[in-house]
Amino acid sequence: MSLHDQAATVDRSTRWGAVPYITAWSSEDTSPSRVVVRGGRVAYSDESLYDRDAAGVLWARMGFSPGVGVPQFKSVHFLRQRRAMRRLLCQVCGQRAGDDAVWMLSVREYEGADGTWPAPITTTHPPLCPSCVERSVRLCPHLRGGHVVLRARKVAPVAVSGLVYRPTPAGLESTPMIVALDDPLVRWVRATQLHMLLDDYTLIQPDTLA
Ligand SMILES: [Zn+2]
Repeated sequence: MSLHDQAATVDRSTRWGAVPYITAWSSEDTSPSRVVVRGGRVAYSDESLYDRDAAGVLWARMGFSPGVGVPQFKSVHFLRQRRAMRRLLCQVCGQRAGDDAVWMLSVREYEGADGTWPAPITTTHPPLCPSCVERSVRLCPHLRGGHVVLRARKVAPVAVSGLVYRPTPAGLESTPMIVALDDPLVRWVRATQLHMLLDDYTLIQPDTLA
């Protein structure tokens, strides 16, 4: 490696500061895959075991090379988002948050969910560990207009968003939608995000977390 390359490597690792675990990088491409109908559901023509989750939902493909290229702060990596939800990993540092997990919602998400409180909330934003809450407020533009932090005793995956395919005489047509995991339509989805239902929760203040 030349001195120039070494300098470039150092520059890359320090240039972006801490990039959240779920942020997609420019090297993680979404190369087109052929979607077909097989067994009464959508599938890939060259499907592998990794293309579906444990519930049998087909997921959009995305390369996996965090740290390579430029962080795409407005894009979430499909697999890391799903993994953070399923395993309750912190969306910023990627460490297991487990029972310490807190959930941060913009005021608009929180107030827009339902009219009766405390009602269950659905979110696509994975949890945080307490020590990453402050950093998350700085990193996430959608939280700047006001946010709430809560700890939920019941969390469960409830839906996916992605493209829903429909066979037509002209071939498969797709529409972006949110589909509940118990909806038969889920067989026609190519998912990009997992939605979690938060219930039995307590609102907490960020300054009581340390
Ligand atoms: Zn963290």
